[in-house]
Amino acid sequence: MSNEALSNLLHEERRFAPPAAFAAAANVTADAYAEAEADRLGYWEKQADRLSWDTKWSEVLDWSEKPVAKWFVGGTLNVAYNCVDRHVEAGNGDRVAIHFEGEPGDSRAITYAELKDEVSQAANALTALGIGKGDRVAIYMPMIPETAVAMLACARIGAVHSVVFAAFSPDALRSRIDDAGAKLLITADGYHRRGGTVNLKANADEAVVGAETIEHVLVVKRTGADVAWGEKDVWWHDTVGAAGTEHTPEAFDSETPLFILYTSGTTGKPKGIVHTTGGYLTQASYTHHAVFDLKPETDVYWCTADVGWVTGHSYIVYGPLSNGATEVMYEGTPDTPHQGRFWEIVQKYKVSLLYTAPTAIRMFAKWGDDIPAKFDLSSLRLLGSVGEPINPEAWIWYRKNIGGERTPVVDTWWQTETGAMMISPLPGVTEAKPGSAMRPLPGISANVVDKDGNIVENGHGGLLVLDKPWPSMARGIWGDQQRFIDTYWSRFAEQGYYFAGDGAKKDEDGDLWLLGRVDDIMLVSGHNISTTEVESALVSYPSVAEAAVVGAKDETTGQRIVAFVILRSGQEETPELDAALKAHVAKEIGPIAKPKQIQIVPELPKTRSGKIMRRLLKDVAEDRAVGDTTTLADSAVMDLIKAKLPHAG
Ligand code: ATP
Ligand code: MG
Repeated sequence: MSNEALSNLLHEERRFAPPAAFAAAANVTADAYAEAEADRLGYWEKQADRLSWDTKWSEVLDWSEKPVAKWFVGGTLNVAYNCVDRHVEAGNGDRVAIHFEGEPGDSRAITYAELKDEVSQAANALTALGIGKGDRVAIYMPMIPETAVAMLACARIGAVHSVVFAAFSPDALRSRIDDAGAKLLITADGYHRRGGTVNLKANADEAVVGAETIEHVLVVKRTGADVAWGEKDVWWHDTVGAAGTEHTPEAFDSETPLFILYTSGTTGKPKGIVHTTGGYLTQASYTHHAVFDLKPETDVYWCTADVGWVTGHSYIVYGPLSNGATEVMYEGTPDTPHQGRFWEIVQKYKVSLLYTAPTAIRMFAKWGDDIPAKFDLSSLRLLGSVGEPINPEAWIWYRKNIGGERTPVVDTWWQTETGAMMISPLPGVTEAKPGSAMRPLPGISANVVDKDGNIVENGHGGLLVLDKPWPSMARGIWGDQQRFIDTYWSRFAEQGYYFAGDGAKKDEDGDLWLLGRVDDIMLVSGHNISTTEVESALVSYPSVAEAAVVGAKDETTGQRIVAFVILRSGQEETPELDAALKAHVAKEIGPIAKPKQIQIVPELPKTRSGKIMRRLLKDVAEDRAVGDTTTLADSAVMDLIKAKLPHAG
């Protein structure tokens, strides 16, 4: 971006304070900010003490080999013990850990005592298959409880898991197996999706051909479909099912690698991000406790992400289970068999804490307010959002139609690389502004700088940086430490800042608004304009459900703004709409932000984790061949969009 600050700032005046009763009973109160500010490392020690350690650390942070941090140096612990056994030892073995809901409607409740047995059996079975400390295990699994069991079993024996999202292709799986050198692949015969079944084993088989490091493939039976059976294959129920339920967890050093996870690939080739044990679990656990305000005895928590993404790692497996939560895990899609499926699940399990993504919220808004209105959502007391900037209007829709106009909404900013939440409101403290992630959490430090690394003043935008190390920070990129330094640490090497790759602004109060990826920021007639802000302005127009904006090359202005817009169901594309939308953006932000061209489209290109891939839209807007679409969820989408355009072929 140019040095011209992001000056066209969308205005938002609405404020939402926490309900008084919520604030009075909150897990974390306002004094946490001052406490962490006064003694940051001491504050993190206190959070680490929420876990059970076999050996206490001798030093909180060793930053002498930056950018590779060591947290809780010399401490030892077992992650699986912390997520499972200790709850049973504390007398909570009968508490449900996971309410599993299958897409066809089958369900299963697993208590902490049962989870302890299953994880112990899986740990014994993995050991019998020759897996030990430091070995890599690829997990290519649907959203079923065995996936969490497999991850915890790896953690229990010190093996490093690499979870690969089940909708990825055999090629994507094989390249991740090869990159990590995985010895074992854990998969399933299949899963239920949109009323049918997917034969996951067939994809796994294809990936394993030529994946030389794989010695065994452990297969969970989920659908009972016929599957091909090879020499390396063993059934989960034959091995794990037959293994003993006694297993003594070993304590591992705080810096033992816990997992490798590849980023979503929104901007390019995925990076194998490495996370370790003590610092990661400390922050995953603390943020889940603080930001969701979990009361383990009474709350029912549901994170709708897939376990294949970092959100699933930190907020389906490690965060909630370390806190002894009761959580829902759902196998299928939000519209099978009907568009009210999520709300039916909230009603059935009396979900009180819900964590989902802006892409889903905008989709629900598009489907119509009448759908959630048919269900009893009164159990909900807090709503969370993650994955992309949430447009203020989507935030308002979420709080009103799902949260019954009473729940706090927490917009949580973080990344695969940060391991856990970094910037978020505290639900019992923060007076939230719709569309703002507000402030770094107590213990976290972030700022906004210009391209030379100077901190911008309130009321200005720039680049988001993290200026102090945090416990769950990535320790590297698997097999490519130089890429880790180049990608995140070289841009502001002099200042020692971590460069997140996202744009942000600080409003007049110093609260943070995420403005999308730095690569997406547009430069129009010398002004930096954020795609997020123009999209939010479009989404605030009543008939618009979703929008994606790109800057296309322009001879006179440098870049011109091109908007792709999806209308709400039942809304017609009229000749007046184009002018009305342009005028609306000009009014909300300023004439400079007015799109030159608006295209009404049926869909937007998204990654498999639901994020808009603007670089593909930019290819369309600049009328050239569309680039790499391998991380796209649905490749037919680009054809639908191109068919709508007059000039593109
Ligand atoms: P890649 O790095 O491979 O391009 P990715 O960045 O999409 O993929 P993730 O680590 O899953 O992979 O996503 C993190 C990114 O998601 C953040 O850098 C940010 O751009 C976006 N993001 C996540 N949460 C929020 C949020 N609450 N507000 C704004 N943006 C968010
Ligand atoms: Mg990223």
